[in-house]
Amino acid sequence: TPLSSTTLPEIAGRVPVPSYDRSALRTGIVHFGVGGFHRAHQAMYLDRLMSEGGAHEWAVTGVGVLPGDRRMQEALAKQDHLYTLVVKSPDGSLEPRVIGSIRDYLFAPDDPERVIECMADPGVRIVSLTITEGGYNFHAVTGEFVVDNPDVVHDVAEPAASRTAFGLVTEALVRRRARGIPPFTVMSCDNIQGNGDVARRCFTSFAALRDPELAAWVGAEVCFPNSMVDRITPVTTEDDRAEVRERFGIDDAWPVVCEPFTQWVLEDRFGAGRPPYEDAGVQLVSDVEPYELMKLRLLNASHQAIAYFGYLAGYRLVHDAAQDQLFARFLLSYMDVEATPTLEPVPGIDLDGYKLELVERFSNAGVRDTLARLCAESSDRIPKWLLPVVRLNLASGGEVHRSAAVVASWARYAEGVDEQGEPIEVVDPLRDVLVPAARQQGADPLSFLRNRDVFGDLVDDERFTTAYLWALDSLHTKGARATLEALAADSA
Ligand code: NAD
Repeated sequence: TPLSSTTLPEIAGRVPVPSYDRSALRTGIVHFGVGGFHRAHQAMYLDRLMSEGGAHEWAVTGVGVLPGDRRMQEALAKQDHLYTLVVKSPDGSLEPRVIGSIRDYLFAPDDPERVIECMADPGVRIVSLTITEGGYNFHAVTGEFVVDNPDVVHDVAEPAASRTAFGLVTEALVRRRARGIPPFTVMSCDNIQGNGDVARRCFTSFAALRDPELAAWVGAEVCFPNSMVDRITPVTTEDDRAEVRERFGIDDAWPVVCEPFTQWVLEDRFGAGRPPYEDAGVQLVSDVEPYELMKLRLLNASHQAIAYFGYLAGYRLVHDAAQDQLFARFLLSYMDVEATPTLEPVPGIDLDGYKLELVERFSNAGVRDTLARLCAESSDRIPKWLLPVVRLNLASGGEVHRSAAVVASWARYAEGVDEQGEPIEVVDPLRDVLVPAARQQGADPLSFLRNRDVFGDLVDDERFTTAYLWALDSLHTKGARATLEALAADSA
């Protein structure tokens, strides 16, 4: 059955579908970056609230700004913005549900004016973002907004025809202000430490390019709550589409699969109101920092710790690597010895339990998350998740062996050939500088680390480079497995 509003009654016999009247939904949230994660996480929480009879004024209108988002617009439009979310348990069982909380999707390049006016509507009270770590357009080391990005320059000159989230959102704020409508809250749900604070810096920096007074107003009047978001959501595959068709009889152009675990810790700072998220299991707190540091340095940095070593050792799926005791032990020792000492106490969380649960989550064979996904855009990931752990340990005299080995494994991976001699497709915005640098490592083993835009001054720290050079040499001469074995023996 093709998924659509008219076929829902038929599908309802097989899979839970929205029980609420979708025609009565109104847009209260405009979301940039409707990918897998938004649909497995924030839209799912809203669907829960709607299923319980609430939040009907908080439906989502999605926005895509990149050319690649045309596909999502077409896929969702064909099926009345409905999609199937399939939760996959380690025991192989599947829990499907048709989600109905997204009511519209706008492809911004077609009609930026419509996107701006949609956000200027008084009914919209939150603009949320999952535009990836790279989407915030700030420099990895200096943290400064990149003002000479051509799209940013364009949006400053022609606000009504904006191409970026910054340009579109800022123009909508300008129009609300002129019309006497209070600003919406900007809610970042990306995996960036202090994601709300980062969003505030980026949006005020952008506004300052238009008008310093506007920047001051954005900084003072717009709320940017920080959040910690967690649910592993791999890229949807053809197999996932086929499974939804064969098992549940639903023809869905773009279903989403994810793990059972889900967590959302959110700062309760919303200037224009918010859905009653607490009724759907969201933790609303005054300070998310302890939770986000825990998640970024344990979960996200561990993803990088398994990604390159796993790939080089010949694994392609995350669970295959995580089920290998050598890898599981390496993750736990990175988390215990290097990451945990950099964390503050996390209210209400048993950290030892959290770490063991992480290894179990990575081992979930149902999810079929790929190491390639974790390796993609590494230059946005390593500096944000792992390098803070390195810097804190260097400052405090803590251990850096394992983190240095992870950075070395990335450098080895970036050479673009695995240990079987097969080519690796390095997906990274900095690919054209990273790959050549990695390929010079034979002659200059520090060539990769010399990139100060990515690594800052780590190359000047002898304690770090000693550990790094050992690991890189071991990766070249003995390979990924033997390097992990040596690290494990070293810790024992
Ligand atoms: P995805 O590739 O499915 O979707 C990414 C979306 O971001 C796309 O719509 C894309 O067009 C948009 N985007 C990328 N760069 C942009 C830019 N410069 N400006 C505007 N939009 C841009 O990825 P996803 O799995 O949905 O993950 C998105 C983000 O969500 C991640 O980068 C991460 O910060 C966060 N997240 C993901 C997961 C996960 O497991 N997938 C878990 C927690 C948090």
